[in-house]
This record gives sequence, structure tokens and C-alpha cells, in this order.
Amino acid sequence: MRYISTRDNSESLSFAKVVDLGMVPAGGLFVPEKIPRIYFSELQNLSYQQIAKQVLSPFMDGFEATEIESCVANAYTSDSFDTPEVADLKSIGNGQYMLELWHGPTAAFKDMALQIMPQFMRFAKVKSGDTSHTMILVATSGDTGKAALEGFKNREGISIVVFYPHAGVSEIQKLQMATTDGSNTHAVAVRGNFDDCQNEVKELLGDEGLRKEAAALNTVFSSANSINWGRLCPQIVYYVKAYLDLVKRVYISYGEKVDFCVPTGNFGNILAGYYAKEMGLPIRKLICASNRNKVLTDFFTTGTYDRNREFHKTMSPSMDILISSNLERFLFEMSDRDAGKICGWYTALGCTGSFTVDQIVKERMDSHIKAVWVDEREVLDTIGKVYRESNYVTDTHTAVAAAAAGKSEDDVPVVIVSTASPYKFSADVLKGLGTKSGSDEFESIKELSRISGIPVHRAVDGLEGKEELHTGVIEISEMRETVTRLIKGAI
Ligand SMILES: *Cc1c(COP(=O)(O)O)cnc(C)c1O
Repeated sequence: MRYISTRDNSESLSFAKVVDLGMVPAGGLFVPEKIPRIYFSELQNLSYQQIAKQVLSPFMDGFEATEIESCVANAYTSDSFDTPEVADLKSIGNGQYMLELWHGPTAAFKDMALQIMPQFMRFAKVKSGDTSHTMILVATSGDTGKAALEGFKNREGISIVVFYPHAGVSEIQKLQMATTDGSNTHAVAVRGNFDDCQNEVKELLGDEGLRKEAAALNTVFSSANSINWGRLCPQIVYYVKAYLDLVKRVYISYGEKVDFCVPTGNFGNILAGYYAKEMGLPIRKLICASNRNKVLTDFFTTGTYDRNREFHKTMSPSMDILISSNLERFLFEMSDRDAGKICGWYTALGCTGSFTVDQIVKERMDSHIKAVWVDEREVLDTIGKVYRESNYVTDTHTAVAAAAAGKSEDDVPVVIVSTASPYKFSADVLKGLGTKSGSDEFESIKELSRISGIPVHRAVDGLEGKEELHTGVIEISEMRETVTRLIKGAI
């Protein structure tokens, strides 16, 4: 499998090279030259690791079977994931299921990809003949940051710099990042929102001058955001695992179609679901669940993407995004891989902040996606309702999806993709349960544990009182300078 650019501005490249580069240097995203088909029914009764190997293999040209096995085995260990299922499926009744993707080291679904991505990178560097130091630049709305820091911590030949919105992440998210140890990790708060951070990181990755400065110090850049294909493809695996688990537990028979409802921000998670569907997994619709930042709901409803709108800070900060990067990959497929159209739309987005797709594309999108948004009140109500009806505690992001799934009238089993442990957002979860939150986050965590009886996730247990090692706060305009300073220090 080779990879091409959504904007037709790159030669086709290998998996190794694409992972190493992170994104298309001239702008645009790498996508597989064609989407492979897999007979998923043959993967029944395999473990997560075995499914991962089968699903990832067609994408990893140039990797030996033993190398793929080694990546998978090193990523999904019993040390890193607190369940042998890796991704756990729970029935909550009424034909609804929770796919828990937060059993990894940082309590968010980002671990599913960021535990294996450093493994890809290790081989990718060697295979693409890259002997430089790699500096990973990351923009985060909260969860990617910590997951990437943990994934890349103390990896030889690699350092990582995470930029996050100063006032745009939860207290626990901030503490998780700020307390990261490791000799090669940096977390920097930026006075701006996530879109500002992500835009500037994309600028930096495409900055010819910066690239030259770095090259002079034997350093190259890459990205651990879901713009990097190496981050996206491992996410296909858990859709397959979830579906096969539904079959294994006889909730459905093989071939029966199900919906997946995904709390969406950058459109990475749900896009992986789309790829799973195209690869042959019996998915009917993907429900794209948004919070008040409903740019995607509006887009799928009207065909016009318009980022010119107020940015809301919500209880689901990892979804507070107005520019969903991975939508570009989806539109590439929906437009029959018309790079000309993509260039036109994304130029318009850059210039005017909006674009409109044609009717044919709109209809194709409708056949895959159902878009629903929910307001903050509904999020809290849903946390309470799911707890009362199913004795199940959801975090604020998962609650957005649960509320969206609840609005779906269809008589199809729906898998709600659960993206974070409730302990990451304890105060708001308590509010939803109708209980007063504690005097601080840690009191709220204890209170939630007392009420729910669920053991505190190890990612937040032990954070209290831990020393903050990363305390810098900078302006957006200082991000470039920060990177140059770090390159000099990192060598
Ligand atoms: C990142 C994240 C999301 C959004 O996922 P995308 O792939 O960006 O759409 C949703 N929920 C949580 C908890 C997250 O960390």
C-alpha cells in the first residue's frame, strides 16, 4: 500500500515515510492509495492483538510480519492496558453498547493509537533511512497531549513538544501533562484555543525556513496528531473488535448492520469507523455527535462548512474544535478522490472560513453519516439518565454521544464509542449525577469513586501533589521561537 496526498501535491510514498513525515509538507493529508477489503468474519475469536495485526498489515507496506507483530505486542501489553480485551464492550440495554477505549495509561481513547505509533516510528525511521533526531510537534485539546507524551517518553532519537490551550483544558488534563517526566518531553501552554494551536503546528510543519534551521541541527519534524496516518489506522482496529464482540456474545449475527455513535472533534475517530466500513465491516451509519461547537452538524445538514462562528468552551473540551482536520480525508473519498475539489474547498476555508460541497457529495455523505449535536444541559441530563437506567457512569464526552444515540429513532443496535474515563472529568460527572462536586478536582474524584464504586483510574490516581515539571505559558506568536530553542536544547 502506497499513500497519496488529498491535494495531489506529493509523490506516492510508503507507510514508513508517511509516518515519518506526519503530513504532506506542501499541505494536505496522506491517504491510502486504495482502501483494502478484509473478510472480517474470518477474524472471529481472535484477540485484540491478533485483530490489530490483520487489520494493520495491508496498510504497512515494507514492514515484515514479524515487525508488525512486534509493534502490536509492544503497544497493547497488560502493563499498559488494564483489561485483556484492550477495548472493552459493555451492554447498557435497549440495544445500546459502550465501547470503552480508555483502559490505557492516560484514561483517554488517544492511547489506542498513541501506544502503537511510537513503535511504527521506531521502524519507520530506520526504513526511510532517517538518522536525524525527530521532534514531534503536537497540538492538543487535552487528551492527545498526555497520551502522546506517555507514548513517546524516553524513546531514543525522538523528542516531543506538546502545545495546549492555556485556559482550554481541564485541571486534570493540565496536571497530567505538566507532571510528565522523561528526558525528551515538553508541554507548553499557549494563550489561544485549540484551533490556534493546531493551525500554528500545521504552519510550523510546513515552514521551509524552520525545516532548514532544524536540518542544520540534524533534526526533522513529525506530528502525532491524527493528521498523521500512523495515528489514524490503529483506530480502525477497535471498530472491528467491537463488532466481532457483538457477534461473539450473540447480540447480533455476523452480517447484521450496526451504528456507531462517536463523540467527535477532529473527525479522526469517526473517520477510522468510515474506513472500517469501507473495508467491509457491516456498519450502517456513523453518528457524528457534537457538543455546542456544532460546525460538523451544520455541515452535514446543509453542505456548508462555516467556521465563522463563536467558539464555545464546554464540559467536553476535547471536542471544542471548529476546524476538523480529518474531514479532508473523508471529503476526498466522498468526492471520488477529486484533489482539485479538495484544493478548492480548503483554499476557500483558508480565505473565507467556509466552503460548500456540491449536491452529489452531500448525498454521498448522507449515506454514511448522521449528525447530531447536544447542548450542555442534555449532557448533564444524559449522565444522570444513563446512570439511573443502566447503572453506568459516562464521562462528559461519551455523554454527548449517548445523548445523540438517544435521539436516534432507528431500530439498529448502536455502539456508543466511549472516549474517556469519567474520572478525567469528575466534577462535571458528579453534577450530572445530581451530586455536589467536591471542593477541588481531587475531592470530586474521591466522591465519584464513593458513589459509583468504580476504582479510580490509575491515570488520575496519584496525580494529587505530584510535582509540575512543565509550567511555561507562551503566546501563539512564540510557538516557532519555542521550537527553535528546544531544538538547540534537544541535541
Ligand atoms: C480526542 C477526543 C475526542 C474527539 O476525537 P476526534 O478523533 O478528535 O474526533 C472525543 N472525546 C475525547 C475524550 C477525546 O479525547
